Amino acid sequence: MTYVYMVSAALFILSLKWMNSPATARRGVFAGEIGMLLAVVGTLIGGHIVEWQWIIAAFVLGSAIGIPIAYLMPMTAVPQRTAMSHACGALAAALVGTAEFYQKQGTGELTPVFMIPLVLETLLGYLTFTGSLMAMGKLQEVLPQRPITYRNQNAVNFVLFAIALALGIRLIMVPGDTLLFPIFAVLALLFGVLLIIPIGGADMPTVIALLNSYAGLSACAMGFALGNRLLIIAGALDGSSGLILSIIMCRAMNRSFTNVLFGAFGQIQTKQGAQEQRAYRSAGPEEAAAILEAASTVIIVPGYGLAVAQAQHKIRELFDTLTRRGIDVKFAIHPVAGRMPGHMNVLLAEADIPYDRLFEMDEINGEFPQCDVALVIGANDVTNPAARTDKTSPIYGMPILEVDKAHTVMVIKRSMSPGFAGIDNDLYYMEKTLMLFGDAKAFVSEIVKELPAKVNA
Ligand code: NAP
Repeated sequence: MTYVYMVSAALFILSLKWMNSPATARRGVFAGEIGMLLAVVGTLIGGHIVEWQWIIAAFVLGSAIGIPIAYLMPMTAVPQRTAMSHACGALAAALVGTAEFYQKQGTGELTPVFMIPLVLETLLGYLTFTGSLMAMGKLQEVLPQRPITYRNQNAVNFVLFAIALALGIRLIMVPGDTLLFPIFAVLALLFGVLLIIPIGGADMPTVIALLNSYAGLSACAMGFALGNRLLIIAGALDGSSGLILSIIMCRAMNRSFTNVLFGAFGQIQTKQGAQEQRAYRSAGPEEAAAILEAASTVIIVPGYGLAVAQAQHKIRELFDTLTRRGIDVKFAIHPVAGRMPGHMNVLLAEADIPYDRLFEMDEINGEFPQCDVALVIGANDVTNPAARTDKTSPIYGMPILEVDKAHTVMVIKRSMSPGFAGIDNDLYYMEKTLMLFGDAKAFVSEIVKELPAKVNA
């Protein structure tokens, strides 16, 4: 079994490495799946399992829930789905810890070496469970998006966490105190809720990455408690990758962890002065097609709206049409475009847009000043020049795609309404900007139709 676990651990590490690049991502997913299969089979044949009927019942129930979710949940709901799987993983770890605690009462096995990881596993497991459910509710909009705040909130949360931790330490020292355990578990569950309510909906994807990290650490601690090396490795990989992902997201938004967790970002902004109506220019598909046809370089900037509209295949048609015409077409990918890092890459890959046409923000920003047309499709915050110029803006300092430097900017979206961060975009009022109002898929389709026949030939 040790060898099976070693192969499985190697496959997990290779899986993470391969998932780093779109070209090897499929291989990475496959390696991860084989690794997990080996881990499960290795554990089952390793003789730890005594009650097969429970394993089969859990397998059937899990598959009955998981398979429809995999097929029915749209790409735009990936953050919620991820939150749900963290909630389930964390609850599983916490329940295993709880069962171990009660089963091993009186056996003399609840030594401090056993109890330290068990307390960590259950504390992180229970708080991640409720925290992930809250995050899921906010993203699904069944809970209020706005941060819920009150006076001394951070102090209250800190005290609550300190009490839970103190009870955990007491359990390590006096493991026979079985009445204390439920209080400890309830405090951890409550802390998960209170930790998330002051965080705005716009920060939930980052919070989910952080909760991913907690769930991984909880599984890692469970590995120590159960003496299972593969769980230790897999949990550590999960915990560290979640942490790295949340660091990447924070950097891409120029935010710190403390700001995300305790900053209550996304509260209703107090309006300064009367709201003025600002002028903007709009155009139809015919004019947009003519502008694209006259360009020699076009940079397409995809965003969340593209994912909502499922416009990726139409964009592929537009890409093919323009490329045939000899126009240089590139895609600019912001690290937090969409709702999770990599969201745009996956969508564009689904439509077989060549990977070598996709450019990261730092690679492409220098090209906007020479670019004839920047075509923004369903992206908003990641193009807002206020991030560079307006010190009062909540997104000030966030690195953006500098589309405002292109000769002409065209923006496909349905209205003038704001994006995820809930703020107006100065880009739309610039003289060089044309607003193309409509659903991304329908509008791109119209543009493709409008491009002259010789382009399509
Ligand atoms: P965004 O700022 O949310 O803007 C998306 C735009 O798409 C909206 O303004 C919306 O305008 C438009 N839209 C929606 N449905 C559409 C449709 N069917 N057709 C055409 N347009 C449509 O998205 P983004 O520019 O991709 O920025 C991502 C946001 O998520 C940022 O605020 C970022 O900080 C945040 N975020 C992302 C991550 C991550 O990891 N990716 C993590 C944390 C936070 P209309 O309603 O007018 O159509």
